[in-house]
Amino acid sequence: MTEPFLPYSLPDIGEAEQAAVRETLASGWVTTGPKCKEFEEAFAAYLGGGVTALAVNSATSGLHLALEAMGIGPGDEVIVPTMTFTATAEIVRYLAGDVCFADLDPTTLNIDPADIRRKITGRTKAIIVVHYGGLCCDMDEIGAIAREHGLRVIEDAAHAFPTTWGGRLVGTLDSDATVFSFYANKTMTTGEGGMVVSRDAAMIERMRAMRLHGINRDAFTRFQSKTPAWYYEVVAPGFKYNMTDVAAAMGVIQLTRIGEFVEKRDALARRYDELLQGLPLILPPRPRQGDTHAWHIYAIRLQEGTETLDTRARFIELLSEAGIGTSVHYIPLHRQPYWRDRYNLDPEAYPQADLAYHQLVSLPLYTKMTLADVDRVVSAIRQALKDLGE
Ligand SMILES: *Cc1c(COP(=O)(O)O)cnc(C)c1O
Repeated sequence: MTEPFLPYSLPDIGEAEQAAVRETLASGWVTTGPKCKEFEEAFAAYLGGGVTALAVNSATSGLHLALEAMGIGPGDEVIVPTMTFTATAEIVRYLAGDVCFADLDPTTLNIDPADIRRKITGRTKAIIVVHYGGLCCDMDEIGAIAREHGLRVIEDAAHAFPTTWGGRLVGTLDSDATVFSFYANKTMTTGEGGMVVSRDAAMIERMRAMRLHGINRDAFTRFQSKTPAWYYEVVAPGFKYNMTDVAAAMGVIQLTRIGEFVEKRDALARRYDELLQGLPLILPPRPRQGDTHAWHIYAIRLQEGTETLDTRARFIELLSEAGIGTSVHYIPLHRQPYWRDRYNLDPEAYPQADLAYHQLVSLPLYTKMTLADVDRVVSAIRQALKDLGE
Protein backbone atom coordinates (compact mmCIF):
# COMPACT_ATOMS: atom_id res chain seq x y z
CA MET A 1 0.00 0.00 0.00
CA THR A 2 1.42 3.39 -0.92
CA GLU A 3 1.39 6.08 1.74
CA PRO A 4 -0.40 9.38 1.10
CA PHE A 5 1.63 12.21 -0.45
CA LEU A 6 3.52 14.20 2.19
CA PRO A 7 3.25 17.84 1.11
CA TYR A 8 6.14 20.29 1.40
CA SER A 9 4.11 22.60 3.64
CA LEU A 10 0.72 22.84 5.33
CA PRO A 11 -0.73 25.60 7.54
CA ASP A 12 -1.74 24.69 11.11
CA ILE A 13 -5.15 26.30 11.60
CA GLY A 14 -7.18 24.95 14.50
CA GLU A 15 -10.67 25.25 15.94
CA ALA A 16 -9.71 28.37 17.91
CA GLU A 17 -8.66 30.26 14.74
CA GLN A 18 -11.88 29.18 13.00
CA ALA A 19 -14.00 30.28 15.98
CA ALA A 20 -12.20 33.65 16.11
CA VAL A 21 -12.78 34.21 12.40
CA ARG A 22 -16.48 33.28 12.72
CA GLU A 23 -16.79 35.70 15.65
CA THR A 24 -15.25 38.51 13.61
CA LEU A 25 -17.47 37.75 10.63
CA ALA A 26 -20.52 37.90 12.92
CA SER A 27 -19.34 41.12 14.59
CA GLY A 28 -20.09 43.22 11.52
CA TRP A 29 -16.53 44.63 11.51
CA VAL A 30 -14.56 42.75 8.85
CA THR A 31 -11.94 45.25 7.67
CA THR A 32 -9.26 47.06 9.73
CA GLY A 33 -10.62 47.59 13.22
CA PRO A 34 -10.39 46.31 16.79
CA LYS A 35 -8.87 42.91 15.88
CA CYS A 36 -6.01 44.54 13.94
CA LYS A 37 -5.29 46.79 16.91
CA GLU A 38 -5.35 43.81 19.27
CA PHE A 39 -3.04 41.84 16.96
CA GLU A 40 -0.57 44.74 16.63
CA GLU A 41 -0.44 45.27 20.38
CA ALA A 42 -0.03 41.57 21.15
CA PHE A 43 2.69 41.25 18.49
CA ALA A 44 4.64 44.26 19.79
CA ALA A 45 4.29 42.96 23.36
CA TYR A 46 5.60 39.54 22.28
CA LEU A 47 8.70 41.16 20.76
CA GLY A 48 9.20 43.64 23.59
CA GLY A 49 12.01 46.18 23.33
CA GLY A 50 9.66 49.14 22.89
CA VAL A 51 8.80 48.48 19.24
CA THR A 52 5.60 49.58 17.49
CA ALA A 53 3.96 47.08 15.14
CA LEU A 54 1.81 47.89 12.10
CA ALA A 55 -0.33 45.14 10.55
CA VAL A 56 -0.31 45.07 6.75
CA ASN A 57 -1.74 42.83 4.03
CA SER A 58 1.64 41.22 3.17
CA ALA A 59 5.33 41.36 3.99
CA THR A 60 5.88 42.77 0.51
CA SER A 61 3.67 45.74 1.46
CA GLY A 62 5.55 46.14 4.73
CA LEU A 63 8.92 46.16 2.96
CA HIS A 64 7.64 48.73 0.46
CA LEU A 65 6.32 50.95 3.28
CA ALA A 66 9.61 50.75 5.20
CA LEU A 67 11.73 51.63 2.19
CA GLU A 68 9.37 54.46 1.21
CA ALA A 69 9.42 55.86 4.74
CA MET A 70 13.23 55.99 4.53
CA GLY A 71 12.91 58.23 1.50
CA ILE A 72 14.51 55.83 -0.98
CA GLY A 73 13.97 57.18 -4.48
CA PRO A 74 15.24 57.28 -8.06
CA GLY A 75 18.95 56.55 -8.37
CA ASP A 76 19.39 55.34 -4.81
CA GLU A 77 21.05 51.94 -4.45
CA VAL A 78 19.93 49.25 -2.04
CA ILE A 79 22.01 46.14 -1.33
CA VAL A 80 19.95 42.94 -1.31
CA PRO A 81 21.01 39.27 -1.13
CA THR A 82 20.67 37.40 -4.44
CA MET A 83 19.50 34.30 -2.54
CA THR A 84 15.98 35.45 -1.71
CA PHE A 85 12.44 35.74 -2.99
CA THR A 86 11.91 38.48 -5.56
CA ALA A 87 9.71 40.47 -3.13
CA THR A 88 12.82 41.52 -1.18
CA ALA A 89 14.20 43.26 -4.30
CA GLU A 90 11.13 44.30 -6.29
CA ILE A 91 10.12 46.92 -3.73
CA VAL A 92 13.32 48.86 -4.53
CA ARG A 93 12.15 49.09 -8.14
CA TYR A 94 8.66 50.25 -7.01
CA LEU A 95 10.48 53.39 -5.80
CA ALA A 96 12.71 53.58 -8.92
CA GLY A 97 15.78 52.74 -6.85
CA ASP A 98 18.44 50.30 -8.02
CA VAL A 99 19.23 46.90 -6.57
CA CYS A 100 22.82 45.74 -5.96
CA PHE A 101 22.88 42.04 -5.31
CA ALA A 102 25.27 40.55 -2.77
CA ASP A 103 26.54 36.97 -2.61
CA LEU A 104 26.01 34.69 0.38
CA ASP A 105 28.11 33.22 3.14
CA PRO A 106 28.44 29.55 2.12
CA THR A 107 28.03 28.29 5.69
CA THR A 108 24.90 30.17 6.74
CA LEU A 109 23.42 30.94 3.29
CA ASN A 110 22.85 34.45 4.66
CA ILE A 111 24.13 37.62 2.97
CA ASP A 112 27.94 37.83 3.10
CA PRO A 113 28.98 40.98 5.04
CA ALA A 114 32.29 41.09 3.14
CA ASP A 115 30.36 41.26 -0.14
CA ILE A 116 28.13 44.03 1.27
CA ARG A 117 31.31 46.07 1.79
CA ARG A 118 32.41 45.44 -1.80
CA LYS A 119 29.02 46.52 -3.18
CA ILE A 120 28.86 49.91 -1.41
CA THR A 121 29.08 52.93 -3.74
CA GLY A 122 28.43 56.65 -3.34
CA ARG A 123 24.78 55.99 -4.21
CA THR A 124 24.17 53.22 -1.64
CA LYS A 125 21.45 54.20 0.85
CA ALA A 126 20.29 50.98 2.50
CA ILE A 127 20.84 47.27 3.06
CA ILE A 128 18.02 44.73 3.18
CA VAL A 129 19.00 41.50 4.90
CA VAL A 130 17.07 38.20 4.90
CA HIS A 131 17.42 35.72 7.76
CA TYR A 132 17.53 32.70 5.46
CA GLY A 133 15.37 29.82 6.65
CA GLY A 134 15.03 31.46 10.07
CA LEU A 135 18.73 31.68 10.98
CA CYS A 136 19.79 35.19 11.97
CA CYS A 137 22.30 37.10 9.82
CA ASP A 138 25.43 38.43 11.51
CA MET A 139 23.67 41.55 12.77
CA ASP A 140 26.74 42.78 14.70
CA GLU A 141 28.79 42.97 11.51
CA ILE A 142 25.92 44.35 9.42
CA GLY A 143 25.25 47.01 12.08
CA ALA A 144 28.94 47.96 12.06
CA ILE A 145 28.95 48.33 8.24
CA ALA A 146 25.77 50.44 8.36
CA ARG A 147 27.22 52.77 11.00
CA GLU A 148 30.54 53.11 9.16
CA HIS A 149 28.86 54.09 5.89
CA GLY A 150 25.71 55.84 7.18
CA LEU A 151 23.35 53.25 5.67
CA ARG A 152 19.84 52.29 6.76
CA VAL A 153 19.02 48.63 7.46
CA ILE A 154 15.76 46.76 6.87
CA GLU A 155 15.39 43.17 8.02
CA ASP A 156 13.24 40.99 5.77
CA ALA A 157 12.22 38.64 8.59
CA ALA A 158 9.69 36.67 6.53
CA HIS A 159 11.43 33.48 7.75
CA ALA A 160 12.41 34.68 11.18
CA PHE A 161 9.55 34.59 13.63
CA PRO A 162 10.70 33.84 16.23
CA THR A 163 14.49 34.05 15.74
CA THR A 164 17.03 35.44 18.19
CA TRP A 165 20.50 36.98 17.91
CA GLY A 166 22.48 37.06 21.15
CA GLY A 167 19.25 36.24 22.96
CA ARG A 168 17.34 39.22 21.49
CA LEU A 169 14.38 38.63 19.19
CA VAL A 170 14.59 39.68 15.55
CA GLY A 171 12.33 42.72 15.44
CA THR A 172 14.11 44.32 18.43
CA LEU A 173 17.64 44.41 16.96
CA ASP A 174 19.51 47.52 15.82
CA SER A 175 17.92 47.99 12.40
CA ASP A 176 15.54 50.70 11.16
CA ALA A 177 12.61 48.36 10.49
CA THR A 178 11.82 44.64 10.49
CA VAL A 179 9.16 42.98 8.38
CA PHE A 180 7.42 39.66 9.10
CA SER A 181 5.23 37.59 6.76
CA PHE A 182 2.09 35.66 7.62
CA TYR A 183 1.76 34.06 4.20
CA ALA A 184 0.21 30.55 4.24
CA ASN A 185 3.51 28.63 4.49
CA LYS A 186 5.29 30.85 7.03
CA THR A 187 5.82 29.95 10.72
CA MET A 188 2.45 31.52 11.57
CA THR A 189 -0.22 32.59 9.13
CA THR A 190 -3.16 34.89 8.54
CA GLY A 191 -3.65 33.53 4.99
CA GLU A 192 -2.06 36.66 3.57
CA GLY A 193 -0.58 39.25 5.89
CA GLY A 194 2.48 40.87 7.36
CA MET A 195 3.74 43.03 10.20
CA VAL A 196 6.24 45.88 10.02
CA VAL A 197 7.90 46.87 13.28
CA SER A 198 10.17 49.75 14.18
CA ARG A 199 11.28 51.99 17.03
CA ASP A 200 11.68 54.99 14.72
CA ALA A 201 8.68 57.24 15.50
CA ALA A 202 8.95 59.23 12.26
CA MET A 203 9.04 56.05 10.17
CA ILE A 204 6.05 54.62 12.06
CA GLU A 205 4.03 57.79 11.46
CA ARG A 206 4.83 57.77 7.74
CA MET A 207 4.13 54.03 7.34
CA ARG A 208 0.88 54.30 9.29
CA ALA A 209 -0.37 56.97 6.90
CA MET A 210 0.98 55.37 3.70
CA ARG A 211 -0.55 52.01 4.62
CA LEU A 212 -3.99 53.55 4.12
CA HIS A 213 -4.12 56.05 1.24
CA GLY A 214 -1.81 58.58 2.90
CA ILE A 215 -4.50 59.47 5.38
CA ASN A 216 -3.14 60.97 8.58
CA ARG A 217 -5.57 61.31 11.46
CA ASP A 218 -2.84 61.83 14.09
CA ALA A 219 -1.55 65.08 12.54
CA PHE A 220 -4.98 66.59 12.94
CA THR A 221 -5.77 65.34 16.45
CA ARG A 222 -2.50 66.84 17.63
CA PHE A 223 -3.94 70.33 17.12
CA GLN A 224 -7.62 69.72 17.81
CA SER A 225 -9.11 68.45 21.02
CA LYS A 226 -12.00 66.78 19.20
CA THR A 227 -11.84 65.40 15.63
CA PRO A 228 -15.23 64.76 14.09
CA ALA A 229 -15.49 61.09 12.96
CA TRP A 230 -16.05 62.06 9.32
CA TYR A 231 -12.94 64.26 9.03
CA TYR A 232 -9.56 63.17 7.68
CA GLU A 233 -6.59 64.65 5.84
CA VAL A 234 -4.75 63.17 2.86
CA VAL A 235 -1.06 64.03 3.20
CA ALA A 236 0.41 61.83 0.41
CA PRO A 237 -0.65 59.50 -2.42
CA GLY A 238 -0.61 56.40 -0.20
CA PHE A 239 -1.26 52.72 -0.75
CA LYS A 240 -3.99 50.21 0.19
CA TYR A 241 -1.94 47.92 2.42
CA ASN A 242 -4.11 47.55 5.54
CA MET A 243 -4.87 44.15 7.10
CA THR A 244 -8.47 42.97 7.55
CA ASP A 245 -9.90 42.09 10.97
CA VAL A 246 -10.73 38.63 9.56
CA ALA A 247 -7.00 38.00 9.01
CA ALA A 248 -6.04 39.64 12.32
CA ALA A 249 -8.49 37.37 14.20
CA MET A 250 -6.47 34.39 12.91
CA GLY A 251 -3.23 36.16 13.76
CA VAL A 252 -4.18 36.80 17.38
CA ILE A 253 -4.72 33.05 17.94
CA GLN A 254 -1.70 31.93 15.88
CA LEU A 255 0.50 34.25 17.96
CA THR A 256 -0.59 32.49 21.17
CA ARG A 257 0.58 29.20 19.60
CA ILE A 258 3.97 30.39 18.29
CA GLY A 259 5.90 28.90 21.23
CA GLU A 260 4.36 25.50 20.60
CA PHE A 261 5.01 25.92 16.84
CA VAL A 262 8.72 26.74 17.16
CA GLU A 263 9.28 23.88 19.62
CA LYS A 264 7.71 21.47 17.17
CA ARG A 265 9.76 22.79 14.26
CA ASP A 266 12.94 22.55 16.29
CA ALA A 267 12.17 18.91 17.24
CA LEU A 268 11.57 18.04 13.57
CA ALA A 269 14.81 19.78 12.52
CA ARG A 270 16.77 17.90 15.20
CA ARG A 271 15.31 14.61 13.97
CA TYR A 272 16.41 15.46 10.41
CA ASP A 273 19.90 16.37 11.71
CA GLU A 274 20.17 13.09 13.55
CA LEU A 275 18.93 10.84 10.74
CA LEU A 276 20.72 12.59 7.86
CA GLN A 277 24.09 12.47 9.65
CA GLY A 278 26.70 10.63 7.57
CA LEU A 279 24.91 10.89 4.22
CA PRO A 280 26.67 12.77 1.37
CA LEU A 281 24.75 15.95 2.15
CA ILE A 282 25.50 19.35 3.66
CA LEU A 283 23.06 19.91 6.53
CA PRO A 284 21.75 23.34 7.51
CA PRO A 285 23.81 25.17 10.16
CA ARG A 286 22.59 25.22 13.75
CA PRO A 287 22.06 28.60 15.43
CA ARG A 288 24.68 29.93 17.85
CA GLN A 289 24.59 28.49 21.37
CA GLY A 290 21.51 29.77 23.18
CA ASP A 291 19.87 31.30 20.10
CA THR A 292 16.53 30.40 18.48
CA HIS A 293 16.23 29.34 14.83
CA ALA A 294 12.66 29.73 13.54
CA TRP A 295 13.14 26.79 11.11
CA HIS A 296 10.89 28.17 8.40
CA ILE A 297 13.05 26.18 5.96
CA TYR A 298 15.12 23.05 6.42
CA ALA A 299 17.34 23.09 3.33
CA ILE A 300 19.85 20.35 2.62
CA ARG A 301 22.56 20.60 -0.04
CA LEU A 302 23.85 17.83 -2.27
CA GLN A 303 27.56 17.59 -1.58
CA GLU A 304 29.97 19.57 -3.76
CA GLY A 305 31.26 17.62 -6.74
CA THR A 306 28.08 15.56 -7.11
CA GLU A 307 25.76 18.42 -7.91
CA THR A 308 24.55 19.57 -11.30
CA LEU A 309 21.16 21.06 -12.09
CA ASP A 310 20.24 17.68 -13.65
CA THR A 311 21.25 15.69 -10.57
CA ARG A 312 19.28 17.98 -8.30
CA ALA A 313 16.22 17.82 -10.57
CA ARG A 314 16.45 14.00 -10.65
CA PHE A 315 16.80 13.91 -6.83
CA ILE A 316 13.62 15.99 -6.44
CA GLU A 317 11.82 13.78 -8.97
CA LEU A 318 12.80 10.61 -7.08
CA LEU A 319 11.49 12.08 -3.83
CA SER A 320 8.28 13.10 -5.54
CA GLU A 321 7.84 9.55 -6.90
CA ALA A 322 8.28 8.35 -3.30
CA GLY A 323 5.44 10.68 -2.27
CA ILE A 324 7.56 13.45 -0.73
CA GLY A 325 6.99 17.12 -1.59
CA THR A 326 10.03 19.41 -1.67
CA SER A 327 10.94 22.88 -2.87
CA VAL A 328 13.98 24.98 -3.81
CA HIS A 329 14.83 28.19 -1.95
CA TYR A 330 15.76 29.95 -4.06
CA ILE A 331 16.41 30.31 -7.73
CA PRO A 332 18.80 33.20 -7.01
CA LEU A 333 17.60 36.53 -8.34
CA HIS A 334 20.69 36.97 -10.54
CA ARG A 335 19.28 34.06 -12.59
CA GLN A 336 15.77 35.49 -12.93
CA PRO A 337 15.15 37.02 -16.38
CA TYR A 338 14.02 40.43 -15.14
CA TRP A 339 16.93 40.95 -12.75
CA ARG A 340 19.52 39.31 -15.01
CA ASP A 341 18.56 41.48 -17.99
CA ARG A 342 17.94 44.68 -16.07
CA TYR A 343 21.43 44.64 -14.54
CA ASN A 344 23.27 42.42 -17.01
CA LEU A 345 24.11 39.91 -14.31
CA ASP A 346 26.51 37.00 -14.69
CA PRO A 347 26.22 33.89 -12.44
CA GLU A 348 30.01 33.96 -12.03
CA ALA A 349 29.70 37.21 -10.10
CA TYR A 350 27.78 35.29 -7.39
CA PRO A 351 29.83 32.10 -7.07
CA GLN A 352 28.59 31.03 -3.64
CA ALA A 353 24.90 31.62 -4.29
CA ASP A 354 25.19 30.01 -7.70
CA LEU A 355 26.88 26.91 -6.30
CA ALA A 356 24.29 26.65 -3.51
CA TYR A 357 21.51 26.96 -6.09
CA HIS A 358 22.74 23.76 -7.76
CA GLN A 359 22.71 21.90 -4.43
CA LEU A 360 19.69 23.12 -2.47
CA VAL A 361 16.59 21.10 -1.69
CA SER A 362 14.10 22.22 0.98
CA LEU A 363 12.54 19.33 2.88
CA PRO A 364 9.01 19.18 4.33
CA LEU A 365 8.88 20.95 7.70
CA TYR A 366 5.64 22.04 9.32
CA THR A 367 3.94 21.61 12.66
CA LYS A 368 1.37 19.08 11.45
CA MET A 369 4.21 16.67 10.55
CA THR A 370 5.18 13.84 12.89
CA LEU A 371 8.64 12.49 13.71
CA ALA A 372 7.56 9.37 11.77
CA ASP A 373 7.03 11.59 8.71
CA VAL A 374 10.65 12.75 9.08
CA ASP A 375 11.77 9.11 9.16
CA ARG A 376 9.83 8.52 5.97
CA VAL A 377 11.43 11.52 4.23
CA VAL A 378 14.90 10.35 5.25
CA SER A 379 14.26 6.78 3.98
CA ALA A 380 13.23 8.26 0.64
CA ILE A 381 16.38 10.42 0.61
CA ARG A 382 18.61 7.37 1.28
CA GLN A 383 16.97 5.52 -1.59
CA ALA A 384 17.18 8.55 -3.92
CA LEU A 385 20.90 9.01 -3.18
CA LYS A 386 21.45 5.32 -3.90
CA ASP A 387 19.52 5.55 -7.18
CA LEU A 388 21.47 8.66 -8.19
CA GLY A 389 24.74 6.83 -7.56
CA GLU A 390 23.80 4.02 -9.92
C1 LIG B 1 7.44 35.04 1.87
C2 LIG B 1 8.53 36.01 1.67
C3 LIG B 1 8.29 37.36 1.35
C4 LIG B 1 6.94 37.86 0.97
O1 LIG B 1 5.98 37.70 1.95
P1 LIG B 1 4.47 38.08 1.58
O2 LIG B 1 3.81 38.15 2.92
O3 LIG B 1 3.95 36.96 0.73
O4 LIG B 1 4.48 39.36 0.87
C5 LIG B 1 9.35 38.24 1.31
N1 LIG B 1 10.60 37.83 1.53
C6 LIG B 1 10.88 36.54 1.81
C7 LIG B 1 12.30 36.16 2.08
C8 LIG B 1 9.86 35.59 1.87
O5 LIG B 1 10.15 34.31 2.12
